Amino acid sequence: MRLGLKLVNAPWEDPAVFVELEGQPGAWLIDCGTLTPLRPRDLQRVDRVFLTHAHIDHFIGFDALLRMHLGTSGTLTFYGPEGLSAHVRGRLTGYAWNLVEDSELILEVCEILPEQALWTRFECRRRFAEEPGPRAPHEGLLALPGGVNLRFAWMEHGVPCLAWVLEEPTGHSVDREALRATGLAPGPWLSELKRLAGGGELSGDLQIDGRAFEARELAGRVLLSRPGRRMAYVTDTIFNKKTVAALRQVARPVDELWCEASYLHPQREKARENLHMTARQAGRLAAELQASRLHLFHYSRRYQKDPAPHLAEAREAFAQTLAPPRYGSSGGPLEASIASSSSSSSTGIPSS
Ligand SMILES: [Zn+2]
Ligand SMILES: [Zn+2]
Repeated sequence: MRLGLKLVNAPWEDPAVFVELEGQPGAWLIDCGTLTPLRPRDLQRVDRVFLTHAHIDHFIGFDALLRMHLGTSGTLTFYGPEGLSAHVRGRLTGYAWNLVEDSELILEVCEILPEQALWTRFECRRRFAEEPGPRAPHEGLLALPGGVNLRFAWMEHGVPCLAWVLEEPTGHSVDREALRATGLAPGPWLSELKRLAGGGELSGDLQIDGRAFEARELAGRVLLSRPGRRMAYVTDTIFNKKTVAALRQVARPVDELWCEASYLHPQREKARENLHMTARQAGRLAAELQASRLHLFHYSRRYQKDPAPHLAEAREAFAQTLAPPRYGSSGGPLEASIASSSSSSSTGIPSS
């Protein structure tokens, strides 16, 4: 399943990235700042949210999301660092919850601890009373629907803060020439074969027009595979050897690096004091992670209305720096092609 990431707001406004899932009705969010630009139907499609941390600019969209899901029977799952369930509880206890007992909405919270995922559940029909769930070892990875893997790294921001990495599974498309050579007519079986291949479930037979075909052998003949891509989302962290090393472990090489650029190089001391990064540091990080492309976001509001200096500064360290694709802009996010790899020198990463 391919993923398409789009920035919801302007780069100097609250961080939130809308993630479309190829061929699926659902959608995901990375961070949950102001969500005003999102169409109600897109808000309702969201069923998973990956929160870096609970600062207000990353979490204030929680209420808008909850409001659009009340009365539905879905499950909204929030992933985040240690302490997230207390923050969710705090938001929920801010409202009165009688007259909602017939709503089936469930909130699940998954706190990522160093070796375990700690689950907590809040059911609307129980007035969002907190229910402790299981603790499960994660070995640095959580499996998401569609064969996507979620990895994470701990950042340094004065509060628990995670960077997120989403890894697509290997994708499959039909080799039309090879299909013709088999003499088989195209049909729904091709979608089924792609589904089986995507899920690694090719051990059995596939029925086509009343005949049985060995699924693995058939997939080998008519399907082309394309490697899944890796996207990393890094924000609200100081730039130092420790954070770079943590990111190298989970996101090198990376296809799309989405990285904060709160400040410009002349304000690098301010960035350091406030546990944020500069555009130049984002460029260095992209080079360190052997990124194919870098998207900058989360500029300080002082830079409102002109993204050019950030892009220019990051490009000095990493040429393939691009403005992020925006939600609501023309062209589907999944149409974005994979940029060719770009490398650049990296120097001067502070040790703390
Ligand atoms: Zn923050
Ligand atoms: Zn922030």
